[in-house]
Formats: sequence, structure tokens, C-alpha cells
Amino acid sequence: MVDLKGQYAPIKEVINASIQEVIDTATFINGPKVKEFQANLEAYLGVKHVIPCANGTDALQIAMMGLGLKPGDEVITSDFTFAATVEVIALLGLTPVLVDVCPNTFNINVEAVEKSITSKTKAIIPVHLFGQCANMEPLLDLAKKHNLFVIEDCAQSMGAEYTFSNGKRVKSGKMGDIAATSFFPSKNLGCYGDGGAIFTDNDDLAQLVRGIVNHGMYKRYHHDVVGVNSRLDSIQAAVLDAKLPNLDNYNKSRQYAAQKYTSKLGAVSGLQVPKLRANHNLELDSPMTHVYHQYTLKIKSGKRDALVAHLLEKGIPCGVYYPIPLHKQKAYLDDRYNDADFTVTNTLIDEVLSLPMHTELDDDQIDFITSTVIDFLK
Ligand SMILES: *Cc1c(COP(=O)(O)O)cnc(C)c1O
Repeated sequence: MVDLKGQYAPIKEVINASIQEVIDTATFINGPKVKEFQANLEAYLGVKHVIPCANGTDALQIAMMGLGLKPGDEVITSDFTFAATVEVIALLGLTPVLVDVCPNTFNINVEAVEKSITSKTKAIIPVHLFGQCANMEPLLDLAKKHNLFVIEDCAQSMGAEYTFSNGKRVKSGKMGDIAATSFFPSKNLGCYGDGGAIFTDNDDLAQLVRGIVNHGMYKRYHHDVVGVNSRLDSIQAAVLDAKLPNLDNYNKSRQYAAQKYTSKLGAVSGLQVPKLRANHNLELDSPMTHVYHQYTLKIKSGKRDALVAHLLEKGIPCGVYYPIPLHKQKAYLDDRYNDADFTVTNTLIDEVLSLPMHTELDDDQIDFITSTVIDFLK
């Protein structure tokens, strides 16, 4: 699904030198590389504060701790996402409220969010799934109207942009009150182990979060709030800092591969290629609307599983993200849910199929993959 060795080869020298610097200076924890990467990422995203941490799951948890959410508070999020998003809501004793998604973008359905708002609702977590931003403008309006926090889950959308109806264009991670991301190796900006970060433009919140990641400590051995130990280690920061200048090019490679897939598969009956949300203004729309963390097809007529088996047999990796909607996961069952409210996720789990998507895909590979799909569906 990814080719991390192929991606490393052309930047080997830069990465190795960056890692070597950490080893030579023995600044393994909170070293200068972490601050350098933090500053470079702030500039790239156009956000005031980046707070690095140990992984994307921690980043989501810490973001919610920073917002002061309390047990019993309800947090609305997508039924169709990686479990980390809902896991941390539950871990903090908050009440996850899952809602259905849009059939074409796989992102949270804003009308479903509105219907789920109660007097206990405190926050919404839109996940920018597969690399395309959620429908943020109406979601932000809704949050404002009901005085709710918005926490963006940017784990799959690093570098993606969203265009507002007035033409304003921003990077994912700069729209909500706070955002969380992951640098897991296969993400669009990945390190060589675990890593994550929190973003916000809010100075007070940033200050609070900086303490939370470090045992709630603002002054050495003074613990003002309950915190956690969640650090991005310097070696991972060294890798990320060396890779960050390539992020836009990496995303362009993904977009090139996506275009190529779509040009071959777009007219094939029995499947649907990924769709971009209807744009407010095409001329103003960003070239980074979708950064294709995944290239996800919908396979119709119940043929998905047979196609998966066929592709694997031909040596083509593929993935089903996600095979079970969260509202049906044992850990998150809740009597409040009515299965009929999840018609989209209940259908998607049988249709979605993600093809290999990474920065090193070449035309021959794409030709082989697409012709194998087409032959099967004929
Ligand atoms: C990867 C991912 C996470 C968690 O990131 P980790 O670094 O693996 O903890 C959270 N949310 C989404 C949508 C993800 O894809």
C-alpha cells in the first residue's frame, strides 16, 4: 500500500544527516530539532502554535483535555473513521455521539451532526478522511450557533486545503479551535516511528496544552493540571524536519497517481471513483483540495470482497477502510443509536476499497492495477 523504502532513497543523505545531528549532540528529548520542526510546521500550516507529541491518538486526547471537556460532555464525531478518534473520547469519560457520513466524500454529515446536538453537546470532531477536508464552512457555522468546540482530526489530511465560499483558502488544522494530527509512517507526512502534534491559533490554549503534554508542568516540579507524558522524540523530529520541505511534492505525487487511476477507472461501470466535494468556486479552488491519503473506490453489486481476493491473488495490495462502522463495534455499542440512522456507513463498509496510494507509484504499476480491476469487473 505504501513504499517507504522508495521514498527514503532520494532523501537518504538529508535524513541521515538530520538524525546524526541528534545523536552527535545527544539531545534526544526536547532537543533543538523538535523546536526547529515545530517552527517550520507552524510556518507551513500558517498556525500560531504547533505542540508536538508522541502520536496522533495522544494529540486528540490532549486537545480535548486542553478544552476542559468533562465526564458526561457529549462529543459528536463520525461513524466512519479510525477508532482512535472515538477511543479517546471514551477514555476521558466523555460520551461519544457517532453520526453518519456523506456518501461521496465519506466525511461527517453536517445535518446528522445538527440532529444529534443536545444540551450536553460540547464539541464536534470532524475527521478529514482519506485526505479531503470535511464540509467545514457549515460545520463551523453550526458550532458557532450552538457554542461548540471544533477539534479537527487531521491525521489523514496533512497539507490539504479548504476553500470557503468567500474564496478564503486555509490548510486543514487551521479551521477549528484546535487540531490533532499523526506522523505515523504511512501518513502523508510520516516519521520513522510514532509521532503526532496539536495545532491551535489560541495563545492561552497553546500554553495550557504545552503543559499537559509534559505532566501538567509549567514550572519544573510544579504540577498545575493533570497531564500526560507525550513527547515527539528528537530523532523523529529530525526525520520530519527533513521531510517537511517535500510534503507538497509528496501530495502532488499522490494527486498525480489519483488522476491517473481516475482516468483509467472513471468510466468503468460497477465502481465509483473518489469524488471531490462540489466546490464553492472552481476558479478559486485549491490544488490541494484532496491529498489522497487513500484512493478509495466504491465497488457496487456486492463484488467488493471477491475483487479484494482477486487483487491479492495478483499480488496487488489493497485495503478496506473501514470494514465495521464504529457504532457496531463492541466497545462503542450504545442504546441511543438507531441503526437506521447510519444508512451510509452501513453501505460503505461493503463497498469501499482502497488501492495502493503513495508517493512512489509509477505509471506501469497503475496500469497493472487498473487493468486488473477492469478485467475483473468486465
Ligand atoms: C492514524 C489516525 C489516528 C491516530 O494516529 P496515531 O498516530 O496512530 O495514534 C487518528 N485519527 C485518524 C483519522 C487516523 O487516521
